Amino acid sequence: APLTIGRMLTAHARLKPHRIGARDLERALTFKEWNDRANKLANALLGLGLRKGDRVAVLAYNCVEWAEIYGAAAKSGIVAVPINFRLVGPEIRYIVEDADASALIVQDVLAHEIEAIRDGLSIPAGNFVHFGQAAAPAGYRGYEDLIAAASDAEPSDQPGPDDAWTLMYTSGTTGNPKGAIRGHRGMSMLALMTEVELGIHGRDDALLVMPMCHANSLNFFSAFVYVGATITIFSRKSFDPELCLRIFGEMGATFTSLVPTHYGMMLEVPTSQRERFRFDRVDKLMISSAPARAETKRAVMEMFPNSGLFELYGSTEAGWVTMLHPHEQFDKLGTVGREVVGSAPILLLDDDGNEVPDGQPGELFSCGPYSFDGYWRQPEKTREAFRGDYCTVGDVALRDEDGYIRLIDRKKNIIITGGENVYPTEIEAVLAGHPSLRDVAVIGLPDLKWGERVHAVVVPRDGATIDPGALIDWCKPHLAGYKRPRSVMIAAADDLPRTATGKVQHRLLRQRIIDKGE
Ligand code: ATP
Repeated sequence: APLTIGRMLTAHARLKPHRIGARDLERALTFKEWNDRANKLANALLGLGLRKGDRVAVLAYNCVEWAEIYGAAAKSGIVAVPINFRLVGPEIRYIVEDADASALIVQDVLAHEIEAIRDGLSIPAGNFVHFGQAAAPAGYRGYEDLIAAASDAEPSDQPGPDDAWTLMYTSGTTGNPKGAIRGHRGMSMLALMTEVELGIHGRDDALLVMPMCHANSLNFFSAFVYVGATITIFSRKSFDPELCLRIFGEMGATFTSLVPTHYGMMLEVPTSQRERFRFDRVDKLMISSAPARAETKRAVMEMFPNSGLFELYGSTEAGWVTMLHPHEQFDKLGTVGREVVGSAPILLLDDDGNEVPDGQPGELFSCGPYSFDGYWRQPEKTREAFRGDYCTVGDVALRDEDGYIRLIDRKKNIIITGGENVYPTEIEAVLAGHPSLRDVAVIGLPDLKWGERVHAVVVPRDGATIDPGALIDWCKPHLAGYKRPRSVMIAAADDLPRTATGKVQHRLLRQRIIDKGE
């Protein structure tokens, strides 16, 4: 099996100690510094009593500490549980408790979220760690104090290919989020495959803009650690297209991966402003995570004429599934390319589990060494995700006459807004707790900027009146901002189409609303 990301970090620290390994917009670490600090953090966590396989939850915006934390996890076998910084109290508590975390690392600017739920957490009192500009408040250990006091020796009991590296929580069609186990073997294989597919190398400088708590950034992080490139983490709370363009130019990035919404925002920066930046070094761009419009792709290729535009299709669970290469963009616009190297042919199955003929839509299953190692403590859900060694991605697609995959629809009921996944069932469960609502259905409506936006169709109880703005505000303590409905439509009970068994038909409802142009 290929070496773990932790072993590769050690190797680069030895081979090119003075080269910048990881940085953010404030701080840069050479490979030697990065490796030493990852070792120290690993030893500090072991000193707190955590052992290989135990979980450490992490709540932070993008910053270079992510490189240290993922590095420490890769060296100690302690499993990192990244939490989306957009989540709020109850959502965070669910993940920390479900992961059964033994320690938590939080950035100063997010500590209030933890304070609000701390009483309900079963993490031992001494295992809350705090980092950032502000001094650690009472009840937290200082991250820098822990690092300063720890040994920089390589942990002796490092994880192997079969051990877990991270638990990435993805929401489920059936309500609660599930922890997708990403193991070392799969992540190292994925790193190697990315090297083959994209031709990345040690002279690259990868700008990681997407949240480090998501699979997209973690995957590219692994790939670029593997080859010993410089990783620059875009340490801003929100995406700033102009700043991103400037960083591209000034920091000499050679690569970035963005969702279509972000490219769209960059394209809106006036040309006069854009022309001030030089993008000489950018030679590989990635677009992924949500359907990309042909116009967006064309405009990106025009904006970066010296760079190849790649498109990736995959999921947190399946890893990377298909890729469309720069030279195929014009011929095969509208497809997501073909199987990434090292995968078996994708299976497209009908409802009876039979393969559909080429050109016919079927549920997409992928098979390669890049998929996850199952859901954390959910054997039943894990079984449902696999057919033998094939993993479902939850989408419906067809294969064209040249073997290219065209996505048709989603099998799973999700909304992708600005690259973030929203599961209608989760939003519906929250709204169902509102005293004035009798019924609710949440769907995604097409949106030029976000791809889709969250739209709630609500049926008031008899005699109740609903104020859409107030209803959206009511969601605040329960739901992250990107999950909250952007629009609310008040409807009668009969307006919600249902199946014979009484389930709301989301697809039909969505189509009706789009057709009416509401
Ligand atoms: P991340 O969590 O970092 O956003 P991701 O988008 O690859 O990573 P998921 O969040 O699990 O993974 O979302 C997977 C779903 O996103 C897929 O099932 C598919 O519906 C959609 N998706 C991913 N890539 C593409 C793409 N290139 N085109 C269209 N849809 C995509």
